[in-house]
Amino acid sequence: MACTKKQCVGRGFPLKLEANEIAQLSQPFNYEFVKNIFPKLDWNGIQLVAKQLNVVLPEQGSVEDEEFVKTLFNLLCNLKVINGSLTCPSCNRVYPIEVGIPNMLLKEEEIYQDIQRMADKEKEAQEEESDEEEDSDEEMEE
Ligand SMILES: [Zn+2]
Repeated sequence: MACTKKQCVGRGFPLKLEANEIAQLSQPFNYEFVKNIFPKLDWNGIQLVAKQLNVVLPEQGSVEDEEFVKTLFNLLCNLKVINGSLTCPSCNRVYPIEVGIPNMLLKEEEIYQDIQRMADKEKEAQEEESDEEEDSDEEMEE
């Protein structure tokens, strides 16, 4: 997972996980699953997540090591962050995790800001001397 924000400069990855509430699930151990997924894992990312969830992993793992495979299975399948957040290392945007679902969607106003910024740039390029008519709205309240 990486940052989805448009103006995010940098890699937007890996997102920093912060877990406030973790649930321990009890899905049955599945050796084949770990064996198949192990070569595809981003090992540095897994190490990072493990550390943040207080799971101790060896520096190098092997699918021949039963203890390791079980630990990895538990980390991947049975530890679920119920409440916490993911933070982009590049732009510091925080994605909340609520009820176990990371919310990677940008808020409406953020999307609006993106569009607005693009529109503003075009506007500036086209007409540089437009009067600030819109500002008067905010000052009318009395
Ligand atoms: Zn970002």
